Amino acid sequence: MENYLINQSNKFASSTPVAQKLQSEAEKHLPGGSTRGTAYFTPHPFWADHGEGHYLYDVDGNKYLDFMLNATSLILGHAHPSIVAALHAQATKGVAFSAPTESQTALSEILHKRIPSIDLLRFTSSGTEATMNAIRAACAFTGKHKIGKIEGGYHGSHDKVSISVNPPLNQLDPSRYNPIPEFDGIPQNLLDNIVVLPFNDLDTSENIINSNKDDLSCIIMEPIVSNFGYLPAQQNYLQGIRNITQEYNILLIFDEVQSFRMSPGGAQQIMQIRPDLTALGKIIGGGLPVGAFGGRYEVMEQFDQNIDGFIPHSGTFNGNPMSMEAGKTTLEQLDVNTYERLNHLGSVVRKKLQSIFDELEMDASVTGTGSFFGLHFGVREIKDYRSKILADQKMSKAIFSGLLNKGILLQQSCAGSLSTITDESHIDALIESIRNVMQDITAEQFH
Ligand code: PLP
Repeated sequence: MENYLINQSNKFASSTPVAQKLQSEAEKHLPGGSTRGTAYFTPHPFWADHGEGHYLYDVDGNKYLDFMLNATSLILGHAHPSIVAALHAQATKGVAFSAPTESQTALSEILHKRIPSIDLLRFTSSGTEATMNAIRAACAFTGKHKIGKIEGGYHGSHDKVSISVNPPLNQLDPSRYNPIPEFDGIPQNLLDNIVVLPFNDLDTSENIINSNKDDLSCIIMEPIVSNFGYLPAQQNYLQGIRNITQEYNILLIFDEVQSFRMSPGGAQQIMQIRPDLTALGKIIGGGLPVGAFGGRYEVMEQFDQNIDGFIPHSGTFNGNPMSMEAGKTTLEQLDVNTYERLNHLGSVVRKKLQSIFDELEMDASVTGTGSFFGLHFGVREIKDYRSKILADQKMSKAIFSGLLNKGILLQQSCAGSLSTITDESHIDALIESIRNVMQDITAEQFH
């Protein structure tokens, strides 16, 4: 395995000399030459030149079949002509104004129609700000200060959710779900106010919620956990969490920043659970920076600047017309049939991936739902964070690197998603490349 990783790293370096030079330049100005954790990997990332449809082209002339899709946000693929046209039209009129524009109302109307749990919403410039403001709204509304989150759940990069996201195995307390900071500097009093819950374990979660009920303002969770390879919550877990939160005046926040691509109304429509608040992002901006949070009228009304004691909420680029136009154009392309086709192709890719693993007698598991897939090696079943962290990270890196050298781009965790332009030929290219990479790894091990 070590040799395979070294060979792949060398191969990648020799096919990306321009990227290597650009990376060294960038390192003079940006820590690690980067401005975004997920866009960096060793020896250096490829540097993007342009995207077209399902493909991304780098500055060295390499072409990648893209299942990363800018972290699932490019549901129509790269440079979709209708988005390019919408952006061009808006850019000629101006890209941002300190005044509302009609496109903001138009996009909010589309979201409102699609998501019945949203009475009112606010736009932000990122999913991070969406979850941050949803939590703020829940604390203000309930007058309580603790926040519940799933162990291993990612909700952006603000402090309140930068706890127990990717905690190392040796810091996990086997006897309880201890809050673990992602980095130094998170104050102890914040840690004391974060209540960590085990995913899909209703009895334990109910006990933890019960003992914190007087202080718990909200529980934030993804109905489909992206960090676990898009593992969906079990219906009885979601229903149980909904029931207990309703009973104790704890707001349930669904982070649908990623899972909104499941259906016209997101995962909540499929799972038939109505949260109090929802955080959105990614596809609702059509590839441009965006976020939104919304939900029950009386909770969101707190942001109305005409009422006494309102919650201040500003942002120079909130609801900017470029993101609004791109988002509106994207959602207009996504009708029921499009989701059905996307989700059907998702089940095709997951089935085909599982059958290669079976055929090659690999200890591996495929997770995902809708148009999402996730691969885990060295483990048979992923149930929650504590089972996910046991997966073989080296194998994951080997598959990511091997695929990259064969012109296939996945998320570094070996997860991915499909776009409306994905067809069976793209899926077959992915499957064949994975088969080849696994065969190469096996050959290397017996070399
Ligand atoms: N929530 C989830 C589930 C996400 O996947 C992400 C981003 O990957 C966020 C929140 C944060 O969104 P952003 O990167 O736009 O700040």
